[in-house]
Amino acid sequence: MLDTRPLLRDVLPEALAPLLVQLGEPAWRGRQLSAWLHRSRALQWETMTDLPRALRLRLADAYDLQGLKALERRISTDGTRKHLFELRDGATIESVIIPMEGHFTFCLSSQVGCAMACRFCATARGGLARGLSMGEILEQVVHLERDLAADPPTTRGQRAGNLVFMGMGEPLDNWEGLAGSIATLTAAAGGGISHRRITISTSGPREGLRRLMRLPQSVGLTLSVNAASPELRRRLMPIPGRTPLPVLLRFGERWARRIHRKTTLGYVLIAGVNDDLAEARLLARLAAGRPFKVNLIPLNRFDDDGLAPPGVDRVLAFQQVLLQSGVQTFIRASGGQDIDAACGQLRRRRLGSRSGRLA
Ligand code: SF4
Repeated sequence: MLDTRPLLRDVLPEALAPLLVQLGEPAWRGRQLSAWLHRSRALQWETMTDLPRALRLRLADAYDLQGLKALERRISTDGTRKHLFELRDGATIESVIIPMEGHFTFCLSSQVGCAMACRFCATARGGLARGLSMGEILEQVVHLERDLAADPPTTRGQRAGNLVFMGMGEPLDNWEGLAGSIATLTAAAGGGISHRRITISTSGPREGLRRLMRLPQSVGLTLSVNAASPELRRRLMPIPGRTPLPVLLRFGERWARRIHRKTTLGYVLIAGVNDDLAEARLLARLAAGRPFKVNLIPLNRFDDDGLAPPGVDRVLAFQQVLLQSGVQTFIRASGGQDIDAACGQLRRRRLGSRSGRLA
């Protein structure tokens, strides 16, 4: 039966003290509870040993502490760890731990599915089911940190590092969940994480961009570009492609000025589709002399869509065009190719679904 209790992690840290006062407890119990939720990563009431048992029972009557159930965990030969979680309504989401030099990056989902319909993306295939609540987003971090603590890596990266909203879903399409989780992660009374460790990756829906300018935290920004010419971008990204690229890039410039860090332009390279060097030259013209850097990501191929990444030579040639124009450009290999680590692949394989080909 569906559990209708709200998740306790859906309550903002500053609202916990008033909530406990309502229950006849002193306000400082709110700080204790917040520390258990966001610092100690508690998932069971019994572990909150400094809270009176009677209070824990009352809280447990009214709130659920756990919204995610681990369904599957895969570890790639390159150290990437992919998790599939079941939510309380039976929907599934993915979260990924990506090993980097000296630290790990957590890749978080913001929605169940996605409405943006990008043609190269496994998540897009089932459409959007719903946005994740703040608590469901925060709990992904809890599970990923517990994974690293329970099974410490022996290779690269020793500690958790950055959080990127780059998993399933368009984060700016779930404003409430996104803004609430960033506020909690960065609050002194919450996770206490620096805003510099958080990045939002967006395809650039217009309404979402307008809201983003009101976000108080100066988080990093990646704009998912994937094509430099407007027609090709609209073909690859039918919904976000309606935001004209010049508008998107002007937004990226404003954001870079605001946070005093470059905006990243993400470009998934697909053989024979957007890897033409003329496209690279166009992208170079758009990015040169502006506060951008480019991440080139060869497509992480999945079973049945007929799309493939370009060969190494083509990727390097594409990068060279940008470098020659003075644009800082990196090649980001898709991690975990052996474990379906591209956004939405593991979930899709589990659900089973029909193919969609690039028109
Ligand atoms: S690439 Fe991102 S924005 Fe596009 S459909 Fe996939 S999850 Fe959504």
